[in-house]
Amino acid sequence: MTDILHLQDPYLLEFEARVVARREHEGRPAVVLDRSAFYAASGGQPWDTGSLGDARVVAVVDETGEVLHVLDRPLPEGPVQGRVDADRRRDHRQQHHGQHLLSQAFAEVAAARTVGFHLGAEVTTIDLDRPVSAGQIQAAETRANEVVWEARPVTVRTVSPAEARDLGATPPDGVEAAVRLVEAEGFDRQPCGGTHPRSTAEVGVIVITATEKYKGGTRVTFVCGHRALGAIAMRRAILDRLVSVLSAPLEDLPAVAEKTKDDLIESERRGRGLLERALDGEARRLLSEARGEALSGSGPAVVVASYDGWPAGDLRVLALKLVDLAPCVALLGSRGDKAHLVFAQTEGLPHDIPGLLRTAVTALGGRGGGKGNVAQGGGDRPEKLDDALHRAAEAARSRA
Ligand SMILES: [Zn+2]
Repeated sequence: MTDILHLQDPYLLEFEARVVARREHEGRPAVVLDRSAFYAASGGQPWDTGSLGDARVVAVVDETGEVLHVLDRPLPEGPVQGRVDADRRRDHRQQHHGQHLLSQAFAEVAAARTVGFHLGAEVTTIDLDRPVSAGQIQAAETRANEVVWEARPVTVRTVSPAEARDLGATPPDGVEAAVRLVEAEGFDRQPCGGTHPRSTAEVGVIVITATEKYKGGTRVTFVCGHRALGAIAMRRAILDRLVSVLSAPLEDLPAVAEKTKDDLIESERRGRGLLERALDGEARRLLSEARGEALSGSGPAVVVASYDGWPAGDLRVLALKLVDLAPCVALLGSRGDKAHLVFAQTEGLPHDIPGLLRTAVTALGGRGGGKGNVAQGGGDRPEKLDDALHRAAEAARSRA
């Protein structure tokens, strides 16, 4: 059994130890020590990192009662000096204790119980067992921060499960052994094996960054201490950018963004109306041109046209307008980074439209399909577009 030093002193970062067993963990060397200040991942809090001698501690896991220090290289024999990464330990003290305070605040203001906790690399989440209102979220955040700023002492004591219950804490189900209670004086008392600060003040500040519905309750995302500064800096950068892009002061951003969105919807609606009319005109122009070129009485018109940068959807609308207006075959293409083709014919005409299209898209190095009177496709060789359209037109005319 390893003597777990952080249970007594979560500020202890350096210690001397002996290797009592050597193991392997997921292909890496690992050691068990007689004593250790490293926290093993547990109860939502990640492991500490640091070093043992010259080896880097990349993970600390509790496996069947053994604390494995997973290393980046094997350790030589002899006593070893352990060093816990100070910044990461402080960060985890801040986030984990902030979690205790926020959970208790939600219990007070919303009678919401915390049923899940995850301390992540960027944010921490708790899962509450019920929905909470915006007002309750604000009140819980305020209450938890008041307790931080009151700099209440944080203490740890070990008691029996019965004593824990008498003290108003709920030990984990089925636990008969001693219970470690972490207490923020006069505010919160709960069983926990994590690393906590000496004073609530060390948490600095607790900022809720998001809430969402989760499994019938609420997932609350938050950051504490130095992470809160980072989160605010990130949001400030985003807001500064929006202020510049929208040319509006910070307090007007929501209204200006909403107006911009409404304007966009309105201009898209007008744009669609204008496009519709333009495509009507284009269809009539193409048909009269095609009729002028064809000899009188030589059958349905074959309309061939190509455009620069048209989306396939617009080509399709134009093709359908053409075949509706008069008996014709429409062979339309557009070139941009890629080539698009839409072929169509008026109901009752005899051409194999999907066959014509297959031949043409093959020449464009692409694929496409359709059935009956409409087919479309495209390819990666827009420079071949006019040639492909020309061949399709010849094939259509020879059939007509
Ligand atoms: Zn805890």
